[in-house]
Amino acid sequence: MDSPTPVRVRFAPSPTGRMHLGSARTALYDYLLARRTGGKFILRIEDTDRKRFVAGAEQELIDGLRWLGLEFDEGPDIGGPYGPYRQTERQSIYQKWATELVERGHAYYCFCTPERLEKVRQEQQKQKLSTRYDGTCRALQLSEARSRIAAGEKFVVRFKMPREGQTRAVDMMRGEITWDNKELDDAVLLKSDGLPTYHLAAMADDYEMKITHVIRGSEWLSTFPLHVNIVRALGWPEPAWMHLSVFLKPSGKGKMSKRETAEALKDGHSIFVKDLIDLGYTPEGVLNWIVLMGWGVAEDDVMTLDQMVERFDIHHLTASPAAINFSKLDHFNGTHIRLLPIEDLAARLKPFFVAANYAVDNDMLLKVTPLIRERLVTLDDCIPFAGFFFNDTVDPAPADLVGKDLTPAQSAEVAHKAYTLLAGLPELTHAAAEPPLRQLVEESGLNINQVFGILRVAVTGQKVSPPLFESLEIIGRAKVLARVQKAIQVLKTL
Ligand code: GLU
Repeated sequence: MDSPTPVRVRFAPSPTGRMHLGSARTALYDYLLARRTGGKFILRIEDTDRKRFVAGAEQELIDGLRWLGLEFDEGPDIGGPYGPYRQTERQSIYQKWATELVERGHAYYCFCTPERLEKVRQEQQKQKLSTRYDGTCRALQLSEARSRIAAGEKFVVRFKMPREGQTRAVDMMRGEITWDNKELDDAVLLKSDGLPTYHLAAMADDYEMKITHVIRGSEWLSTFPLHVNIVRALGWPEPAWMHLSVFLKPSGKGKMSKRETAEALKDGHSIFVKDLIDLGYTPEGVLNWIVLMGWGVAEDDVMTLDQMVERFDIHHLTASPAAINFSKLDHFNGTHIRLLPIEDLAARLKPFFVAANYAVDNDMLLKVTPLIRERLVTLDDCIPFAGFFFNDTVDPAPADLVGKDLTPAQSAEVAHKAYTLLAGLPELTHAAAEPPLRQLVEESGLNINQVFGILRVAVTGQKVSPPLFESLEIIGRAKVLARVQKAIQVLKTL
């Protein structure tokens, strides 16, 4: 195989909210492309929008990436040759490039007040025109603009969009796109607070950080011609661009709303990475789910991150929007849980038991894990299935102890027979307990579910549990006998 040219790709989130699936997928594709080509994956924090800044959001992003296993090679907390990696720490770079654009005649100082801009906007709306800057300051002489700045007037820097002709640019996934320049706006590059907008900051950083491929959301398609014009005005090499489609809600109609997101959470699902961690999803399951939302390999392909790296081909990504399908997430999560070695799975279950206040015994956990792993969809399913293993006693609902179609007295008798039989065994193992218990079923003329049902509820405290004989062995003779004894007492009071 040809060895591919190593790329430099960046994941460039804004710390303005929670890390969701869309960001995770963008980061994953960046990561896969970097690893596939032996290149570098960079994390850059785009924090210049101070109004929307959310404290803690950067840490949630970093934690999310690390939980997913998407280790970055350069980034705010680890540094790298092109740092700093937080845009608010790079202000002078943007100011330099804004000035450069003005000097080359591709940008200008604008002194229009927010009030004036608002009036213009309203007027345009009234006339049913598209709203954009009306170009008032575009005609100002640079010398005049400079003296106004020197006199202390507030200003922004705007890009001077070409007014005639067309802008053409290529998106790797969507092909060539053409825009009429007269439809484009003179966007703000540098705000009056001296901070850049995304348009300038991202382009300058992609250049300074030697980014070769820009993978980002399709919300940036409308300003793509602006970005291309900035890059070209400065004579920078153009990266390859790709705009990923958005995720649609499960019905496929539109994006998830706040209400639908809250409803999904009640159902044990979420579009936020942090929630998925808490809900018991595994990074393997989440990655496998999102990687296929936009990658045209066979739908059901189960892959680990390493296998994704081996198979990834950026040319196979598709632009068609994917609907979020939580049952697929459950499918991939359960599948990956069953692929984990027992020790690994046990270690991942442990925090869930601990969080639910069970005193976890590690030897017991290692025995319990294989019994329950077939049934786990999420890691926290271990609590209802297997929490009782770590309790000294169980407390079944008395009515559950009564066997199907039996009276409490008959049930107590069955429990008593089982007790005598188990107490008489030299050792309570699966192999030793099964034959006599089966014989008991036959002799009593009852069916298996009646007899084993009583025993199951007595010993585990619940109607649904892992396989009975294995459970008896793990719980151990003393506890089993005490629990059956207690059940007999309870049944006698009914
Ligand atoms: N900060 C931008 C965002 O969060 C990044 C877009 C990009 O990757 O260029 O949407």
